[in-house]
Amino acid sequence: MQSDTLVAEGVQHDMLVHQRIKVHIRCRHCGETFILRGVRDSKGHIETGFKRCLCDNDRDFDIEPLS
Ligand SMILES: [Zn+2]
Repeated sequence: MQSDTLVAEGVQHDMLVHQRIKVHIRCRHCGETFILRGVRDSKGHIETGFKRCLCDNDRDFDIEPLS
């Protein structure tokens, strides 16, 4: 079970270096907008946990970080 402990510590460390931001998401299909809290990792990738729009679009969005 030693490897499980190492994985858990790695996840916690990653969360510390991530920057918490607000993200504005606009659906390109129906125009619906969402404001979500997300995290930006060291590579500039933004992760919000957002899955899909009300119109079932799950990949075609404008995503813009808010200051
Ligand atoms: Zn939509």
